[in-house]
Amino acid sequence: MKHSLALLTFIAGTTLFAQTTTDKPILGFTPANAAKEHALEAQLDAKLNRDELRAWMQRLSARPHHLGSDYDRDNAEYIASLYRSFGYDTHIEEFQVLFPTPKKRVVELIAPERFTAKLFEPPIKEDATSGQTSEQLPVYNAYSIDGDVTGDLVYVNYGVPADYEELDRHGVDVKGKIVIARYGGSWRGIKPKVAAEHGAIGCIIYSDPRDDGYFQGDVYPKGAYRSENGAQRGSVMDMPIHPGDPLTPGVGATANAKRLDRKDAEVITKIPVLPISYGDALPLLRNLGGAVAPPDWRGALPITYHIGPGPARVHMQLEFDWKIVPARDIIARLAGSDRADQWVIRGNHHDAWVNGANDPISGQVAMLEEARAIGELAKTGWRPKRTIIYCSWDGEEEGLLGSTEFAEQHGDELRQHAAVYINSDSNSRGFLGAGGSHTLERLMTQVARDVNDPERNVSVLERLRDREQVLARTPELRKEARERALIRLEALGSGSDWTPFLQHVGVASMNVGYGGEGEGGSYHSVYDSFDHYVRFSDPGFQYEVAQAETTGRLVLRLASADVLPIEFTTFADTLSRYLEELTKLSQNARSENEERNRLIREHAYEIAADPTKTYVPPKPEPPVPFLNFAPLQNAISKLQRSAHDYDRAAASLPSDAPNASVREAALDQALMHIEQALTLPEGLPRRPWFRHQIYAPGFYTGYGVKTIPGVREAIEQKQWNEANQQIEVVAKVIESYAAQVDRAAEIAKGRSQ
Ligand SMILES: [Zn+2]
Repeated sequence: MKHSLALLTFIAGTTLFAQTTTDKPILGFTPANAAKEHALEAQLDAKLNRDELRAWMQRLSARPHHLGSDYDRDNAEYIASLYRSFGYDTHIEEFQVLFPTPKKRVVELIAPERFTAKLFEPPIKEDATSGQTSEQLPVYNAYSIDGDVTGDLVYVNYGVPADYEELDRHGVDVKGKIVIARYGGSWRGIKPKVAAEHGAIGCIIYSDPRDDGYFQGDVYPKGAYRSENGAQRGSVMDMPIHPGDPLTPGVGATANAKRLDRKDAEVITKIPVLPISYGDALPLLRNLGGAVAPPDWRGALPITYHIGPGPARVHMQLEFDWKIVPARDIIARLAGSDRADQWVIRGNHHDAWVNGANDPISGQVAMLEEARAIGELAKTGWRPKRTIIYCSWDGEEEGLLGSTEFAEQHGDELRQHAAVYINSDSNSRGFLGAGGSHTLERLMTQVARDVNDPERNVSVLERLRDREQVLARTPELRKEARERALIRLEALGSGSDWTPFLQHVGVASMNVGYGGEGEGGSYHSVYDSFDHYVRFSDPGFQYEVAQAETTGRLVLRLASADVLPIEFTTFADTLSRYLEELTKLSQNARSENEERNRLIREHAYEIAADPTKTYVPPKPEPPVPFLNFAPLQNAISKLQRSAHDYDRAAASLPSDAPNASVREAALDQALMHIEQALTLPEGLPRRPWFRHQIYAPGFYTGYGVKTIPGVREAIEQKQWNEANQQIEVVAKVIESYAAQVDRAAEIAKGRSQ
């Protein structure tokens, strides 16, 4: 292994000599306790069993198990019985949530020829569960409004705001029309939202083979990729406003909770929306006229892509059964010994759109296996210092319903007791992927150092670093991948159950899973099955075991550490990177604005355009003012000083000194609440549910993260006054966070409790 010497240098930091596993330092542990921890983790690894993972996956994905279905209940009871057998104090917590399912779905082309979309994924003999049609949810988008609309069709590419600017240049308006957008480029719920903002009356979303189909690889069942009949179900709730039950924003959806009238629910779409396969999309797209679509709008169907509008004319009719169904979260607790009031929470959803072997059962069974192994360790007399809580969430697919209702119902307890939340979801062969609070980067890096990659027999850290070096697009990125001591955690937007914990309650959170080599194409279709998973995702269940080793270590370290393994320097440095990005963003906005206004003044757009084609030049915009970033610069540099001071003080902790554990317990109390200082009760502008001021899903990206969202989105939306206001708001938040870090440093130094 040619990299091993270099790796040892940066991992060990202080020594050029190889350390045995038990010598490797672990953040938050004394050297003696770190050695014990390594021994405990070796026992954890020895208990993990891939045959069991495989058997559980087959059992849990044997029938369709969407929210509210018979098999969803059956699975919930089965999962609860497993946790009980592992030795956990277990209960099922129920919420009552709004869940529309289709009564009527029609998409038909009525001119210039007639075609009725099949809207059906046929059973295939190579896939044993694909024929369970009586229990399958049909292809649809949950929380689309009911509607019966007819209009000319317009192709809008991914249907994100920039695509509508392009349509403006072509003089195409979607008012009163039905748009067809391809999946990708944003979270799906953004597409009907932006379409409605532009006056469209209906929205069709299809999977183009360029992004999701034969352009990617052989289609199912020959290969893993989406066939012409495969379609992607999914929620279109306006989750950037708030996730969870649409009728009970901010409070737990208990049986007696006060509910909004459905017409007042903010997150249901304004126009009807339905997903279709590329087989169903082809006749619609083929009948579009108007301008030829710009090069990067073209997909991989065997046609020339046109924008429209018309002559394709479409009729859409959707009716839903707007019923309230139970969401069943399974909550399993292993009480801690002397710091039982500090909770380490671990979650993965159990509901699927259909059989969901990959999404979510691959993540669910890896978590169950980890929980079983930890339960067995507890049966031998070992006990975690802190309380471990496993959560198998229901209703994630519809909009993080189970986890959001739980976090809203137990918000006060969580603010008091939750130390860290660790999430996972789908898992497959490949590379470690980790995102989360940047105070947890060293914890994650040290865990990755200690988990073996099953295919290459190096640490998963080394494999990840090698891949990042190989893929690096610039010498700087390559140098960073080689030399930076820590993994960079991705910032978390949304897309799975960490959102209510991190962004609403303010619990430091991480999302962890493997992927990148498993082949896709079954996402949210009937073909996300056991048969598909064992052929294409992780045939040997090796990365299922690696996942349990990884998240098992995270849980064990968080639960057993002498001091919670949180540090601040990396977070402060990450914030200064974000500040740099924001500064550049506003500079670019200013120079682009000047340049565009100049070109408009000089009529350059018209002169350059082909006179035989429609071209509408952009309108001049008011100049972009200079923003005052000083408050943010000052706050971040204060935090950098505080962070260095804390990390230095904490380096002498934990210790074996006689009264150390009292000081460590006091320090924990400060550390576990510190992420909350990054939240504000009033939340982000126009979306109070999202309280975290550093990480949020984008208002116009959906899942994609916006860091320092108040400032970043104000710049992107050209709201310059708001940008200046938000700079001050976030600066104050970071100042008060720095004050909490100072307090923790005083405790670490023994000068305060
Ligand atoms: Zn999932």
